[in-house]
Amino acid sequence: MLLMEGKPVVEAMRQGLKDRIEALKSKGTTPCLTVTLVGDDPSSHIYVNAKDKDAKELGIESRTFRFPASTTQAELEAHVRKLSADPSVHGILVQSPLPKGLDEAAVVDLIDPRKDVDGFHPQNVGLLVLDRPGHRSCTPWGVIGVLRHYGITTAGKRAVVIGRSDIVGRPMANLLIHKGAFGDATTTVAHSRTADLPSVVREADIVVAAIGKAEFVKGSWLKPGAVVVDVGINRVEDASAPRGYRVVGDVEFASAKEVASAITPVPGCVGLMTRAILMSNTVDAAERLS
Ligand code: NAP
Repeated sequence: MLLMEGKPVVEAMRQGLKDRIEALKSKGTTPCLTVTLVGDDPSSHIYVNAKDKDAKELGIESRTFRFPASTTQAELEAHVRKLSADPSVHGILVQSPLPKGLDEAAVVDLIDPRKDVDGFHPQNVGLLVLDRPGHRSCTPWGVIGVLRHYGITTAGKRAVVIGRSDIVGRPMANLLIHKGAFGDATTTVAHSRTADLPSVVREADIVVAAIGKAEFVKGSWLKPGAVVVDVGINRVEDASAPRGYRVVGDVEFASAKEVASAITPVPGCVGLMTRAILMSNTVDAAERLS
């Protein structure tokens, strides 16, 4: 069984990114990523701090804007418009979820698509569907990066993506049906209304789980030798853990690893890749805009 850890993949990406950042700086451009955080969702604060750290380590300028939960739609939209128009800014990320009452889609629509490093703007979503150049949604593009790194081709294989969210499931399925060695999969998208999910999963050579339910997919559901990519990040209470909880995926790792030919650990793979792709998208944006 191959444990597809994210660290070596991210390490391999880092040097290339550092070289590109140096090249940009030598021409007078410092890539700049802005992260906008509204309200005080504790997980969001952790994610935003991690993005800030990643950027600084690579030499990307990181600007974090923190707004209170009482921020109005008009104030947030004015802020995003300003960032979109600011030539020193290359990447704009508005941390999700926004507090209740704020319209996230309306805010994302105002991001200059060339600076939409999350790949959530409808223009980038359309470009992804059409397999034309544009910013790819970080998590699914990170999954393709993991498969590529470990030489797991998808062409001609049966893939099952569990989850149809705008940020993971849907773009993931679209990438898997693009032409090429890391596409060309015969792809099924499962969701909460899928009948007999275990039977659907059993047909898959490649399973991508993006559900948001701790250890939901069992090893007994898998076809022997399946490749399993676990996108899920779930906290489960664990009194013996230092923080009182453990982080687990959407796949029951202990049973799945006995059946799978390759599997990603949680934590330690897709989350790291998501962060690395965000940096890579920011460097892409800086190159295109400078
Ligand atoms: P989401 O928006 O809540 O979507 C979850 C999807 O799972 C939905 O399409 C839902 O179906 C489906 N689902 C729910 N219950 C199901 C069931 N019983 N059987 C089959 N499908 C079911 O979540 P998301 O944003 O895609 O995130 C999914 C997971 O990935 C979460 O654990 C999240 O924390 C994690 N995540 C990780 C990263 C990372 O960097 N590693 C990034 C993003 C998300 P319906 O559409 O029918 O409701």
